[in-house]
Amino acid sequence: MPNTERETALLEIANSLIGIEVISDRHQLEKLSLDYYHFSPVLQEQLATKRGELAVRPTTEVEVTQVVQACVQHRMPITVRGAGTGNYGQCIPLTGGVILDLTKMNQIKSLTPGSAIVEPGVKMAAFDKKAREIGWELRMAPSTYRTATIGGFIAGGSVGMGSINYGQISDRGNVRRVKIVTIEEQPQVLDLEGDQVQKVIHGYGTTGIITELEIALAPAYPWREMIVVFDEFMSAARFGQTLSDSSGIVKKLVSVHAAPIPSYFTALQNHLPEGKNAALVMISEYDLGLFRELVKEYNGAITYDKTAIEASKGTSLLEFTWNHTTLHARNLDSNFTYLQTFYFTLERVEQMYHHFGDEALIHLEFLLAGGKAVPAGLQLVRYTTEARLNEIIRFHESEGAFVANPHVYTIEDGGNKQIDRDKVEFKQKIDPHGLLNPGKMRGFEH
Ligand SMILES: Cc1cc2nc3c(=O)[nH]c(=O)nc-3n(C[C@H](O)[C@H](O)[C@H](O)COP(=O)(O)OP(=O)(O)OC[C@H]3O[C@@H](n4cnc5c(N)ncnc54)[C@H](O)[C@@H]3O)c2cc1C
Repeated sequence: MPNTERETALLEIANSLIGIEVISDRHQLEKLSLDYYHFSPVLQEQLATKRGELAVRPTTEVEVTQVVQACVQHRMPITVRGAGTGNYGQCIPLTGGVILDLTKMNQIKSLTPGSAIVEPGVKMAAFDKKAREIGWELRMAPSTYRTATIGGFIAGGSVGMGSINYGQISDRGNVRRVKIVTIEEQPQVLDLEGDQVQKVIHGYGTTGIITELEIALAPAYPWREMIVVFDEFMSAARFGQTLSDSSGIVKKLVSVHAAPIPSYFTALQNHLPEGKNAALVMISEYDLGLFRELVKEYNGAITYDKTAIEASKGTSLLEFTWNHTTLHARNLDSNFTYLQTFYFTLERVEQMYHHFGDEALIHLEFLLAGGKAVPAGLQLVRYTTEARLNEIIRFHESEGAFVANPHVYTIEDGGNKQIDRDKVEFKQKIDPHGLLNPGKMRGFEH
């Protein structure tokens, strides 16, 4: 028997959702309440005990609307969830309530050369398999490609393999249209097109529940996967920059790791001689000649070389790059945490490399920003205290780097740095009671 008003409300919501999967088991709720927030010792302390009180798994937009109606009637918070691989507690319900798990909304509605219309719960690798049948693929994908959902990536992620060609998700044209359900007594279904989609991209699921997405695709190439090792870290970094700048060599991934990071990639140890710095790359098989020339020019040595067909069978090098690098390092030493840094220039990379030494090991991913290939850092930081972590961030900022702090859980305190009035005003309209993922948009809370 429910003994509080809250319990009664939750029970009424559950009972009203006929035909929709409802989960109230405590262990399942615990799993569905958390994400990869634990990469941050700071967030670990703040978020570990947060839990949703009920989870629901709708399969259609109509069912999503029913859940919303029931929740709004009881003023119950809703937190949307894809695969739960976010890093900043993005889908951790700060004030309890209902977890809306959209992994069962996983239909590919249309797939044509250059674009696709999908439901949010479609998994990225599964999508690519289909798209490649017609010679196309996702423009970009995170290293959680095998598990993450397209909806979760658009609402919570930002970059990944392919970003060296297409930049960030939020770059114009990558997401063409989003359909959202609003959080009102009578929920509306809105289609956002053109620049309107920015209200939802990287919005941490605070600005509407995405029920459909139209995304732009890239032509698919046979991607060769290779590791190149270097004696000097800066040779590896310069090689990464030159390769990224070489528009004539078609590539999808340029990931550079200072020693001893390669020693954390347990499964690749046969290809990673001790003490070397490494570049993990994906190159079009049509451009290998010039690529090999470039390797020679920078005194690199290729130690791993898988054809596109071989690479598609085993574990992809992707799963050692982007934030998977942090995952591998933490598997060996959980004291590691990380930062996300735009250095803008290799001079700044070199400065930080010498300044922090073993305390902040440099891991670079190259991506296109403002039309230029730039090195972005996902440095591995040996964590001591929050104060020291903030000092490291401040030093980077004082020297002209931009840090998208992964140790905070609001949109503004992470990458945005400032309140986005457009997003706040939009949220006021579509979620007037502030029920959607409360606590994640500081501008709205204030
Ligand atoms: C090991 C590791 C590596 C990673 N590598 C990368 C990387 O390379 N690039 C990168 O950008 N990120 C990376 N991430 C972060 C994360 O994997 C990606 O952001 C991923 O795309 C999130 O997808 P998801 O389905 O797990 O989303 P979730 O974590 O479930 O959700 C993410 C956010 O989106 C919201 N959301 C989900 N679905 C919807 C919807 N339908 N409507 C509205 N809001 C919604 C949620 O509320 C939440 O705020 C990494 C994380 C880990 C743990």
